[in-house]
Amino acid sequence: MKYTVIEHFSHPHLLLWNSAETVPYQCDGCKELGFKACYRCEYVDCDFHLHEECATASSSTFHTFFKKCDFKFHEKAPGECPRYCDACGKDVLGFVYQCTHKKPYDLHPCCVKLQHTIKGDGIELKLSKKVSSKCLKCQSKEVSKGIKGWSYVSTCGQYCYHVACVKDMVLENWKNGNFVQQSDAIELSSLEMQSMVPSQELVMQCGESSSRRKGSRYWSIAKLVLQLIVSAIFGDPTYGVVAFVESLFSN
Ligand SMILES: [Zn+2]
Ligand SMILES: [Zn+2]
Ligand SMILES: [Zn+2]
Ligand SMILES: [Zn+2]
Ligand SMILES: [Zn+2]
Repeated sequence: MKYTVIEHFSHPHLLLWNSAETVPYQCDGCKELGFKACYRCEYVDCDFHLHEECATASSSTFHTFFKKCDFKFHEKAPGECPRYCDACGKDVLGFVYQCTHKKPYDLHPCCVKLQHTIKGDGIELKLSKKVSSKCLKCQSKEVSKGIKGWSYVSTCGQYCYHVACVKDMVLENWKNGNFVQQSDAIELSSLEMQSMVPSQELVMQCGESSSRRKGSRYWSIAKLVLQLIVSAIFGDPTYGVVAFVESLFSN
């Protein structure tokens, strides 16, 4: 059951469940970007939003990637700053789950809840802590020095994107104002979506195939993979972009 009105310790006013949020927001809990349904303050002037995951965070949690860790919720991460989320590699600036070990791991509430399996259009992606293939965006296995970061990898192992890299791509586009509102859905303009997938040339270099036909097939699957991940991280509204972009590149 979902509560439509909640009280939250982080804000003096009531928060309302808003299933049709159409404008990207910055979550006032974890400070990360949000697109999907959220809780927002009953007073519009407050412009206060919480991801569902942040509003309903429990005092402790577990994650299968860290079997020996006991994660506790914190409004602000204790310990040495700056801190990074071990899932997405982004800064921890607000709400966080931190494990109780001496050298703790940190996870954003939304990252704790990332789906382990994404399926769509005949593609299955698994959330992975360790990957054997390079991320198609950054061409590296690590997000940055010392931070491996989680990835979504296709079951065939050929398509891999860091959660961090997908977040970066979407954030960049958001900052550049490339999100257009279409009816109730937030969609990336087709041009920008195109710039997020590896170029055909790059894919050909990967030795996937020397045939042009296979190269473009690889490219279109990579695009689809990326769209599935964007939807998984940011919620369903962006999923509408799939059909739209596919139709532009189908010829
Ligand atoms: Zn949040
Ligand atoms: Zn308020
Ligand atoms: Zn731990
Ligand atoms: Zn994170
Ligand atoms: Zn990457």
